[in-house]
Amino acid sequence: MKTVDELSGAFRAQGLRVTPQRQAIFRLLQGNDEHPTVDSLFELARAQMPTISLKTVYQTVHDLEALGEVALLDVGTGSVRVDPNVEHAHHHMICTRCGKVRDVLVDVGALRIPARERRGFTVDDVEVHFRGVCDECAARPR
Ligand SMILES: [Zn+2]
Ligand SMILES: [Zn+2]
Repeated sequence: MKTVDELSGAFRAQGLRVTPQRQAIFRLLQGNDEHPTVDSLFELARAQMPTISLKTVYQTVHDLEALGEVALLDVGTGSVRVDPNVEHAHHHMICTRCGKVRDVLVDVGALRIPARERRGFTVDDVEVHFRGVCDECAARPR
């Protein structure tokens, strides 16, 4: 993900406003590999900046997505997750108990659909979700 200064520049270049609230969200996403929900980003931002609104967080995340700076994922955990790792193609492991989402850098290039199954469909992206139980949940008695 770009730095806070680079993101601020990219926003201004698009005619989007850069406010301290928006920059707080840029900062929270730097190097963030937790795939936070918009609600959890809002909670984190509010701890630093009590005046921030959920609407601002939504708007900023959507503007970041429109600029290609974050990906919004629906991995079946009930809410959209924000992924600032747009530089490296990757897949995800999803814990079905706690909803944790982790990046996995595995090559699924060998995954091909036979022509008779594809029926003329052109595939240009493959996204794999590995579902299971994370180490922390596995160590915790149910
Ligand atoms: Zn878990
Ligand atoms: Zn990811």
